[in-house]
Amino acid sequence: MNGNHPETPGRQMPACNPLAWMEEELADLARRVQERKLRQSETARADEVETAGAYTRRDGKLLMNLASNNYLGLAGDKRIHQAMIQALRGARPSPAAGAGASRLITGNYAAYTRLEQDIAAWKEREAALVYASGYMANTGTIAALVGRGDAVFSDRLNHASIVDGIVLSRAGHYRYRHNDTGHLRQLLERHQDARRKLIITDAVFSMDGDTAPLRELLRLRDEFGAMLMVDEAHSGGIYGRQGEGLCHALGIHRQVDVLMGTFSKAFGVYGAYVCGSSTLIRYLTNKSRTLIYSTGLPPAVIAGIQEALNIVRTEGWRRTRVLEAARSLRSRLRAAGLDVGEGDSPILPVIAGSNATALAFGARLEEAGILAGTIRPPTVPAGSARLRLSLTALHTEAQLDEACRQIIRNGRELGVIQ
Ligand SMILES: *Cc1c(COP(=O)(O)O)cnc(C)c1O
Repeated sequence: MNGNHPETPGRQMPACNPLAWMEEELADLARRVQERKLRQSETARADEVETAGAYTRRDGKLLMNLASNNYLGLAGDKRIHQAMIQALRGARPSPAAGAGASRLITGNYAAYTRLEQDIAAWKEREAALVYASGYMANTGTIAALVGRGDAVFSDRLNHASIVDGIVLSRAGHYRYRHNDTGHLRQLLERHQDARRKLIITDAVFSMDGDTAPLRELLRLRDEFGAMLMVDEAHSGGIYGRQGEGLCHALGIHRQVDVLMGTFSKAFGVYGAYVCGSSTLIRYLTNKSRTLIYSTGLPPAVIAGIQEALNIVRTEGWRRTRVLEAARSLRSRLRAAGLDVGEGDSPILPVIAGSNATALAFGARLEEAGILAGTIRPPTVPAGSARLRLSLTALHTEAQLDEACRQIIRNGRELGVIQ
């Protein structure tokens, strides 16, 4: 309240600020070097740098972007932009900015059906269902698959949207140590009697860049009569001959019960899908609340995803390039003495340890013109604050050489490299 408003007669001004506790919580976050702030990012201009999609402008400064999930460089692809513009310009009988309703009411236009048929064909499964985002696909699917009296077995490093879906489902939540199938087996044995059992994992882990032991998880699924759900958010577009994902690359895509992936990372657009048997998709259409109670995606977004899918399937050089670039950078940083994890994906963690060291590392790189993700708890376990480097198919060798030099130099100066 301030002095500009006349006080309502007969009402007491509150004695204290009901939101005062927020100031205390924020001060606490700041003390632990965990407060986050939104910063402004703009795309780089094509005339500024050789590969604009590999750069970003932050608070006005041009930075090499090693922090995006735009692995294939498609966010800036003109063909996708054109498809999105065309969806508005060419729409009959009249263009629509938004879907206007949830898909089960009047928001399910023809482009949705075509896209879902193409996704199902690409993934070699019976049917697919498009969701508004990966977060909504995971929460809406998990909460539909399990409920009270059921048990979910989830890798400790799974994405937050998986954790939230499990909480929302009210099922028992059993977290196994990262990629530890021995620990998973113990938990499955202990909770054999649960009504339904669901094992769930990221295919590629978002903050570590390593991959799940999917074949072993399938064996445990069979042994314990569970369902298996795999989140391909960071592996879609990257693995498989047509970018189908890690399950395809391993030849197990027909056996996994629930396959989920996003269009917000390698595809460079927005949205997500779940695919599997037609029974699964019919069931989710009836039971998945994030699908039922939320508006369909705008037609321009669906058109953008459709074009991105065509490009992801056909332009294999993009996956080859980004994996090559990641391998090269990973081996050089490891040789210099940095802990870059065990993965073989476009995501490279550089473990710094304390929050303060990770922040200082990130700030120094930014000073040197390089943007890396600075990831702190609770996103990663305490004591493993890190830089998260993510590459794109657009980074050139010269750019990566420069990044490598700066990371190693600053790692030495900060004592991350002993
Ligand atoms: C990013 C991510 C999601 C969420 O996807 P959005 O489309 O950004 O909502 C889900 N799962 C994993 C593993 C992710 O990395």
